[in-house]
Amino acid sequence: MEKPFIIPIFIPQEGCPHRCVFCNQSSITGLHQHIPNSDEIFSLVNENLKFKRPNRNKTQIAFFGGNFLGLKKDHVRYLLSTTDQFVRSGKVDSIRFSTRPDTINIERLRMIEKYSVSTIEIGAQSMDDQVLEKSNRCHTALDTQKATQLLKDRNYEIGIQIMVGLPDDNERKAIDTAYKVSRLSPDFVRIYPTIVLSNSLLGKWYQNGKYQPLPLHQCVSIVKKIYLLFKSCNIPVVRMGLQPTTELNQKGTILAGPYHPAFGHLVYSAIYLDKIISILESDGPVLDEVFISVHPRNISRVRGIKNQNFDILTRRYNLKLIKLFSNDDLPENSITVNDKQALIP
Ligand code: SF4
Repeated sequence: MEKPFIIPIFIPQEGCPHRCVFCNQSSITGLHQHIPNSDEIFSLVNENLKFKRPNRNKTQIAFFGGNFLGLKKDHVRYLLSTTDQFVRSGKVDSIRFSTRPDTINIERLRMIEKYSVSTIEIGAQSMDDQVLEKSNRCHTALDTQKATQLLKDRNYEIGIQIMVGLPDDNERKAIDTAYKVSRLSPDFVRIYPTIVLSNSLLGKWYQNGKYQPLPLHQCVSIVKKIYLLFKSCNIPVVRMGLQPTTELNQKGTILAGPYHPAFGHLVYSAIYLDKIISILESDGPVLDEVFISVHPRNISRVRGIKNQNFDILTRRYNLKLIKLFSNDDLPENSITVNDKQALIP
């Protein structure tokens, strides 16, 4: 899936009927609740367009961080008609936004059909009603199913966002959520670990012992399984982990939880480690020297962060040597370990 050039316009927690337990958009984006005026939109979009490389095939203006279809009708119309001008002038290809599943209904979809919206992301978070209730989402898994169908009927490109480690969630429920989302056949998904943010209800629950976040390694392991499930269904995973921002990295913003600025990299590295182990163990006793070749783009995934994968392999098999070769003749999704070639899922 070719990545579009995205111009984000944040509308932190605008249009939200209430606050979900894990949410504090202000600390993620550094912005306060605010609908940008047309001057702000024009300067933001024009500023961002300067960074667009000529070879990017698609440019989209994206409304993130709030519940777009939950905004007042006037605000929805005003934001779409303002940004639509960039589409009509040919500077931008289309508009996208994220929204809660329970705000996707026929009336709202009729309202937006005359604008150049091509992509809608549904904040599903979980397909387990108990998890949704505990997270104060106030919608059900059925709302996500119905919303997806309404968007499919109108040929929107559909993204579904899910979270791992919400209150009452566990590995079984998280994988079941991924399975149910895969049955909806979205065009892409995003997977976010649940992080404990300051000034969120989850933050209070964490401080008084009512909520315990997933440890990083466990979260990576669950997200890896979910990623592989989506891969096996040919559903692109366009993001794993929160986008690192200056605000997020500020001391005191994150109270606890499986945050890592390169979370997706950790997941890919874990997939490479599993593959290397399965190749090594597929054919009798493991020799004490290992030779690995991959495409140059995947060298860091094979090594893992701070060479973690090599450390694990060395300890596990008492290795004397691991030699890693970069080979751009190899396909990007393949790896060779001691002359045995395999595909990376
Ligand atoms: S998670 Fe989404 S719907 Fe919930 S409060 Fe935050 S922005 Fe609003």
